[in-house]
Amino acid sequence: MKLLVATGNKGKLKEINRLLADESIEVVGLDQLTAPPEVIEDGDTFEANASKKALEMARFSGLVTLADDSGLVVAALNGDPGVNSARYAGGHGDDPANNSKLLSEMEQINDENRQAAFHCVIALAWPDGRCENFDGHVSGLIMRGERGEGGFGYDPLFMVPEYGKTMAELSLEIKNRISHRGTALRKVIPLLKQLAKQ
Ligand code: IMP
Repeated sequence: MKLLVATGNKGKLKEINRLLADESIEVVGLDQLTAPPEVIEDGDTFEANASKKALEMARFSGLVTLADDSGLVVAALNGDPGVNSARYAGGHGDDPANNSKLLSEMEQINDENRQAAFHCVIALAWPDGRCENFDGHVSGLIMRGERGEGGFGYDPLFMVPEYGKTMAELSLEIKNRISHRGTALRKVIPLLKQLAKQ
């Protein structure tokens, strides 16, 4: 079975490919499509953006399509950066600028109030317009400086208390075991297995 994974984010793609590696699914990336449309992520929720991306790409490609919309939700910042996580500091996907902005916004927040969670919605869409959403989240704390070289995005600032490490200090295997994306994707895998059998 061919599955289009509709993301241009290399960090997400690496994690999704690893999680699907054992399944009999041929993953097709956006780089294998000719002139795919640019999907504007203008929804107010992770669900709205994930299903919009998956549906538009499924219609365009004619393939069953998986899309991820995810981000960081910080309680002390009233849920920011939320659905705007990728463009928190302005440019899309500028991780260093996003992390600096988060550090400065959190500077006055004391240690007791630094709770945050990564959220992920994975949408699976069919070319005929059907779409199903699956979600996952992981809780943690925002650090006062970056630690670790792995992962992407806000990972170096996101402390996972159970491990005493930031997401960027955990191996890909452990991140996938506990992460918002891993949790959401494990909910889709049974459905993908069924589709692969058809
Ligand atoms: P999207 O492409 O609109 O879904 O943007 C996702 C953004 O949320 C990324 O650019 C990151 O800033 C952030 N994000 C999502 N998942 C993760 C993660 O696993 N680690 C770190 N940052 C993440």
